[in-house]
Amino acid sequence: MPDSLLEVQDLGIRFGGLHAVRDVTASLPAGQITAIIGPNGAGKSTFFNLISGFYQPTSGRIRFAGEDITRLKTHEVVSRGIARTFQTTTIYKELTVLEGVMIGHRVRTRAGLFDALLRTGRERRDQAESHAGAMRALERVGLAAQAHLPAGALTQEGQKRVGIAMALASDPRLLLLDEPAAGMNPEETVNLMALIRELVAGGLTVALVEHKMSLVMGLADGIVVLHHGQKIAQGTPQQVSRDPAVVEAYLGS
Ligand code: ADP
Ligand code: MG
Repeated sequence: MPDSLLEVQDLGIRFGGLHAVRDVTASLPAGQITAIIGPNGAGKSTFFNLISGFYQPTSGRIRFAGEDITRLKTHEVVSRGIARTFQTTTIYKELTVLEGVMIGHRVRTRAGLFDALLRTGRERRDQAESHAGAMRALERVGLAAQAHLPAGALTQEGQKRVGIAMALASDPRLLLLDEPAAGMNPEETVNLMALIRELVAGGLTVALVEHKMSLVMGLADGIVVLHHGQKIAQGTPQQVSRDPAVVEAYLGS
């Protein structure tokens, strides 16, 4: 077994009476693709929100690369090397693709916008860095040639790639993808799978939430199954697809 890059232990969060994620213990092996699956409302996006610091857990711990990151804020988590995409990416259609990635990157890595407003020397240096970082990210997702087009001119698939580039701009070690293939046709889905494989070949560790079973089964090294906030199974795609508890969770939902 490869070392795990991320480990969560007894992780949980309550929203009032609702235990959206409950006592989840799981690890993400370095250099692998782990799929998080489960019926709607199972807690998959909430799980990502916990790992990425958007939500503070009400119980449990999160360790990343040996460091306890349980209480870190979003931009601190990003700076440690965890980036995410969202189920719906906000694309600024009037901006260029490059500007969109730069802004998406800044919004998630800066604690405030004061620097941007004050136009300090540090701000100008950051601007140059973020321009270079955004271009590198666009190259990784195959959009370098479209960098100066209005983002609104891209296809649905192109806009999804912009969302991935926004996450890659912070140069993460772990990338969390929330339903990356949603709204994609079969050909686009195959292209996305190839992109994810390339990113992993380049050293990235990936966790993804996805409903498309062709993608999950064809891409994931391991699968974690959530149901009503709890982990009900974990294993290879073959193991999980034969697990009676998993079949039951999907049929019963
Ligand atoms: P999934 O991504 O697996 O479809 P979610 O993680 O989005 O599910 O949601 C899990 C449960 O937590 C749902 O019942 C949802 O309504 C609830 N939930 C998620 N976020 C919040 C929130 N901020 N406040 C209250 N309830 C929430
Ligand atoms: Mg979700």
